[in-house]
Amino acid sequence: MKRMGDLIVLELEATLMGGPMVIHPVAIVMPDGTLTLVDTGIPGMTDAIDAELKAAGHSLADVKQVIVTHHDLDHIGSLEAVVAATGAEVLALEAEVPYIDGRERSQKMPSEEQVQAMLVDPNLNPAMRAMITRPPVKVPVTRVLHDGDELPGGIRVVATPGHTVGHLSVYLTGSKTLITGDAMTSEGGTLNGPNERATPDMAGALQSVKKLSGLDVQTVLTYHGGLVTENADAQLKALANI
Ligand SMILES: [Zn+2]
Repeated sequence: MKRMGDLIVLELEATLMGGPMVIHPVAIVMPDGTLTLVDTGIPGMTDAIDAELKAAGHSLADVKQVIVTHHDLDHIGSLEAVVAATGAEVLALEAEVPYIDGRERSQKMPSEEQVQAMLVDPNLNPAMRAMITRPPVKVPVTRVLHDGDELPGGIRVVATPGHTVGHLSVYLTGSKTLITGDAMTSEGGTLNGPNERATPDMAGALQSVKKLSGLDVQTVLTYHGGLVTENADAQLKALANI
């Protein structure tokens, strides 16, 4: 966990497809002392989230709303459990809602026919088997967001489609912090573009990077890669010009 002003940046070790990785949900301390959580990690992470929040002097019980950047399983895996534990509101962009509440299959999941074909393959890896057979996450979205919405605490919603159809990023106007979700990645403080392999609409995603580069940014937080604090604004603008 890293505490930066009103931000609690979580550092959670997760093993999903592609092996172990550290992912970064973040909690924003609201003016009334409650927490707004941005993304929830893979399934089974509520205890780890609670432990990280406790290390920062808060707890999972303080979470009153969850902003979902997008519906990939490494972002909504523990959403249902977090909502069950806290009764928190769930906020997402309109285009992402049917993928979160379970009306639509995940944009990146194989089709039903492909799943059936994969399941009869004796060489199918167990992690992949578990992934494609687990029931979809179904969590009602209680507040539909739109591009440019401003929430209390200086939270601005920025629509950044590409990685998924209704992907959003969060800009904190007070600290000039940009929380990118998967609209961008980073490594060791160096900002990178979106992960091409996991981004079905790369052209749209690059447009979204351009859009984000119009913001006045001091700090960038990517879900995969963590904090970018050195020359974040210059790095963002350079990335948008590629
Ligand atoms: Zn992700």
